[in-house]
Amino acid sequence: MDLFEYQGKSLFARLGVPVPEGRVARTPEEARTAAEEIGGKVVVKAQVQVGGRGKAGGIKLADGPDQAFAHATDILGMDIKGHTVDIVWLEQASNIAAEYYVSFTLDRSVKKHLAIVSAQGGMDIEAVAADTPEAVVKMHIDPVVGLTNWQASELVYRAKLDRATARKSAAALRKLYEAFVSLDCDLVEVNPLILTDDGEIVALDSKVTLDSNAFFRHPDFEDFRSAFTEDPMEKMARQRGLNFIKLDGSVGIIGNGAGLVMSTIDVVALVGGAASNFLDVGGGAGADTITNALEVLTNDPTVKSVLINIFGGITRCDLVAQGIVEALEGLELQWPIVVRLDGTNAVEGREILRGVVSDAVIPVETMREAAEKAVELAGKG
Ligand code: GDP
Ligand code: MN
Repeated sequence: MDLFEYQGKSLFARLGVPVPEGRVARTPEEARTAAEEIGGKVVVKAQVQVGGRGKAGGIKLADGPDQAFAHATDILGMDIKGHTVDIVWLEQASNIAAEYYVSFTLDRSVKKHLAIVSAQGGMDIEAVAADTPEAVVKMHIDPVVGLTNWQASELVYRAKLDRATARKSAAALRKLYEAFVSLDCDLVEVNPLILTDDGEIVALDSKVTLDSNAFFRHPDFEDFRSAFTEDPMEKMARQRGLNFIKLDGSVGIIGNGAGLVMSTIDVVALVGGAASNFLDVGGGAGADTITNALEVLTNDPTVKSVLINIFGGITRCDLVAQGIVEALEGLELQWPIVVRLDGTNAVEGREILRGVVSDAVIPVETMREAAEKAVELAGKG
């Protein structure tokens, strides 16, 4: 998950990387108040997950609260490369003496971390690398050892960062690397890391990508997620522990195992229909899971029919059937459900479904038949 600049900076601040003091604002009024609280000159920065905000007019210097209000009025709602600005970040303006580039990523090919440092920050690093490759210094870091003091110093020396403040730069590099590791990041990029007129090293921008596979180790990251406008259905499904992705069609899909769900989506397309979602209930799905899955789909008005495709392994088909029965009792389902059960306890499962007194549940033998039936019913819906 990519963080907004202000979110990345809040993590930096927590870990001791110097950042300018700032506030978030969602309205021009909030921007005015933020500027009053910060005091002096402030920079108003569009919060979008795309680079080059400066060039696009998404970063403006204000000499006080009134101008901050005016800039926020301009920037909020602005479209930057297809991203609408809903949030601005206001921070104390910095006096820049030099702009550096720093990033830490994982280099999978050598199973090591990669540090990239340049004294020519502030601009597009790809352009710097193309024009003056010698100005971009790269160094691999052994993830077991971490970034040592001498390596940090060597990076500063080789990248020709300011000599007088070399110690501070090296310390900032080590703190950023610590952040990269301790927060389980895929990327930490600071462009620019600046040297101020007073000889301080400050992170003026932040681009942080968190590894979502490590979220369980960072419960506090939930707050970051809530700042993004998440699809309400995807959110609902996630809260129920389901893997759900919204698609464009009208056939609701429920299956167990990502591979089976994807194949089901393909077969639905093959017979001329389109899936309205990907929904994997995972292995060992019981009655509750199926009820939950159907409940999520009831909130999607684009669904016209539902296809449940279960291959029983650890998952028991009788429990799945039980879940369908329970859902029928508890929920008001607006569409027919085509069910294909195979594998563990499939016979028992079909038996349970046959006992359901409803036209809305249609047991079908094969995947192809099931898809054809579901597509046909969706067309009628
Ligand atoms: P990006 O264009 O999206 O990468 O946004 P950045 O946060 O990197 O800002 C772009 C440029 O705006 C920086 O490289 C600086 O030159 C300039 N800038 C940002 N904040 C300040 C500030 O507080 N003072 C000054 N003088 N310039 C700033
Ligand atoms: Mn930048």
